[in-house]
Amino acid sequence: MSMRAEIVAVGTELLLGQIVNTNAQFLSRGLAELGIDVYYQTVVGDNSERLLATIELARKRADLIVFTGGLGPTLDDLTRDAVASYLGRGIEMHEPTLRKLEEMFAGRGAALIESNRRQAMLVEGATPLRNSTGLAIGNALTVNGTHYLLLPGPPREMKPMFENDASTWLKKLLGPAEVLHSVMLRFAGIGESALEDMLIDLIREQTDPTIAPYAKEGEVAVRVSTKAADAEEAARKLDGTLTEIRRRTDRFLYAEEDVPIETAVVQLLVRQRRTASLAESCTGGMVAELMTSVPGSADAFLGGVVSYTNAVKMKLLGVPRELLEGENAPGAVSEQTAAAMAEGVRAAADSDFGVAVTGVAGPALAEGKPVGLVYVGLAERDRPTRVEKLQLSGDREGIRIRASKRALYRLWLALTGRE
Ligand code: ATP
Ligand code: MG
Repeated sequence: MSMRAEIVAVGTELLLGQIVNTNAQFLSRGLAELGIDVYYQTVVGDNSERLLATIELARKRADLIVFTGGLGPTLDDLTRDAVASYLGRGIEMHEPTLRKLEEMFAGRGAALIESNRRQAMLVEGATPLRNSTGLAIGNALTVNGTHYLLLPGPPREMKPMFENDASTWLKKLLGPAEVLHSVMLRFAGIGESALEDMLIDLIREQTDPTIAPYAKEGEVAVRVSTKAADAEEAARKLDGTLTEIRRRTDRFLYAEEDVPIETAVVQLLVRQRRTASLAESCTGGMVAELMTSVPGSADAFLGGVVSYTNAVKMKLLGVPRELLEGENAPGAVSEQTAAAMAEGVRAAADSDFGVAVTGVAGPALAEGKPVGLVYVGLAERDRPTRVEKLQLSGDREGIRIRASKRALYRLWLALTGRE
């Protein structure tokens, strides 16, 4: 049986534009992964009457209504009461949660006040959903064939609750054969349309597994999915398609899980016990930021220089003056300078790789060179330096992120012997 869902985000803050409804995006994606079709996303303020009207409407057009927000202790937190009142049910205390709250407050030397007690309450008959990162307990219940899930508003509470107890509850409802299994393939060094062209016949013919491309910032992802009873059956069904995609896209496919290229690069460096350093001009430290966002990068990334001016390129990286100054000098944005920057930082840091990015991010031309012209230099211990020339498109931010991802991609090619 396929299930139709509606997501109801509750909160006046959402309607006033003070916060973005990121919960709806997270839940839509999570439900899709379970094979549940989301037909509507609704936003309603902290107002009983309109909340009741929303529930009434959602019940008519959905089998599953997922609420987020309004489970907290304050008077404007209405969701639990509204659902109970809509269903003609009472509110009951969930004793184990109440005891947990009492202990917590006692530990802080504070008394548990009435409003906090409310966070341990459930709609009568509901299954409690544990809140591992906060206080308010979640609710799951089925009444007259409609399923209701009540989740808290703060994303850091809502996400773990959805991924743990709520997903378990949903999977039980769906029955084994309905669960969607998918593999996320991640690609770098190729644009979305070029990748689609490589896979176009597979995408056109797809029925099961399904193949869905997504564009990311400077990268592309493809989700390959199938519905199956268990992981083994899913693996069997996905295998042929995955093998064919791998065969066609080997130069670009850097991960079979949903991670960015910097994660793959850091993991490879760590595994190979090799190190990298960076010399960045137009990306202004963005590559370093991406590298250091990966846990464990300290073992692989030694450091970097943001060499924005010619003076710093010369002083800190040892780029020869004749490359940068004088009428016939190739200039800061050139193959020679990219190579010298990469070699300079590699030598200074004594790393296995030195990666350099220099280019014109725009909006204005530089050195009379066009916006989007970028050179990525890769110096490697005991090997000749390589430089790639790129003509990137997009605005300043787009060019910077694409240049950064491209630099990481060059390093990935070298680390995997794909150059
Ligand atoms: P609390 O116990 O914090 O009151 P709650 O379950 O009552 O939690 P709300 O009061 O509706 O939830 O929202 C609390 C906070 O959670 C909001 O201020 C906002 O930061 C965040 N939040 C709520 N709803 C959303 C949403 N749909 N998307 C993203 N963030 C949200
Ligand atoms: Mg609240």
